[in-house]
Amino acid sequence: MIKIGKSRHSLAGKLILSVSAVMTFGSLIFGLLFIHFEQRVLLKAGVHSAEVVRIVHSDMVSIILACVLFVLGISAFLCVILYRLVSKPVAQLESGMMRIAKGDLDEPININTRDEMGLLANIFNSMAKDMKRYRQDMENWTHTLEDEVKKKAQEIIKTQDELINTEKLASLGRMAAGIAHELNSPLTGVVTFAHLLKDRTPQADAQGHEDLQVIIEQAERCSKIIKGLLGFSRRTGFEMAEINLNALLEATVAMIRHQARFYNINFSLDFAPGLHSVLADPNQIQQVFLNMLLNASDAMNEKGAINIATRALNVDGKDIIETEFSDTGPGIPEANVGKIFEPFFTTKPVGKGTGLGLSVSYGIIKKHGGDILVKSGPGKGASFFIRLPVQRKGEWRNAQSGESQNPGN
Ligand code: ADP
Repeated sequence: MIKIGKSRHSLAGKLILSVSAVMTFGSLIFGLLFIHFEQRVLLKAGVHSAEVVRIVHSDMVSIILACVLFVLGISAFLCVILYRLVSKPVAQLESGMMRIAKGDLDEPININTRDEMGLLANIFNSMAKDMKRYRQDMENWTHTLEDEVKKKAQEIIKTQDELINTEKLASLGRMAAGIAHELNSPLTGVVTFAHLLKDRTPQADAQGHEDLQVIIEQAERCSKIIKGLLGFSRRTGFEMAEINLNALLEATVAMIRHQARFYNINFSLDFAPGLHSVLADPNQIQQVFLNMLLNASDAMNEKGAINIATRALNVDGKDIIETEFSDTGPGIPEANVGKIFEPFFTTKPVGKGTGLGLSVSYGIIKKHGGDILVKSGPGKGASFFIRLPVQRKGEWRNAQSGESQNPGN
């Protein structure tokens, strides 16, 4: 690039000085010094001044070109360094922050350098990780809260239904107690005197006998309804005892299985062994069991199968014994499932059903701190689940929330 001249002519130092005024970059200073040095050498060597000008001029162009190229190279190098060390990581940080701001916490910012940018990226990544964890916790918590609210809402609806039912039963019970009390005595008189009249009617008067028999039957039917109504008032009271449900069920089935309406019914018993005893009134519980069996027999037109199963369960932390009655009847239409525990709801023909069996049973089981559930689909038979708490003597009072141990009194 730099020529050492062969010129023998001298040249005043003006040109060199004017060029040095233009050159501002530090690297050019070196060139200027060199040209100055070359000029002196050339002049000393006796080179002609015009020749010196030409040589120095061409050297200067070379030096300026070299300097420009050098400056451009340095700039390009600095640009690359700046891009790699600053611009690129800043852009990555920026796009990472935008992602985080939009809620995308899955993709980390990928800067693996050991400088400040790498440190910043690490801090952001761990912040995004923490945010993701908190968000997950919040989502889990929200779901738990939603489930809890749903569960509580269902419980409230159930309790409300039960309260309405209990309230209905309670007011019906009060009314029934009054009506039953007023009707029972005259009705007993009607039945007694109808029997007396029938005895006194000559045998030849067949029509008279038949009419009196109708009076007796109808009056007895009324007595049956009154007995059912008395079930609400609990005038008779409960006699609590520790009972073994398996034994009580066996005795109940033995009692009815030879009756005509159960002849064509196949019983299967599936009892869990070693069940805890429950504290209950055996007569009342047996009345409930009988009602279940009679209803099943009616639903199946006295022909089919009844399965009775017992099992120990723990529901909401409480030990209970569940007795299941399942039949192979037509089942309960969905529209009726919500009504069957209502007093006087019946689908049986007039004279056959009073619609009191299930409501009385419901009242009895509720008084024992238990529950009756039903599961049925059309054509799939019906299943009734009677749940009674496992209680020992002395616990019943608490279960009844301070009610007397004998609710009928
Ligand atoms: P009743 O037996 O006098 O009709 P209940 O209160 O015992 O009164 O029963 C009410 C209604 O519930 C019945 O009329 C019947 O429609 C329905 N039901 C009860 N048990 C069953 C069953 N096992 N299968 C089908 N329907 C049933």
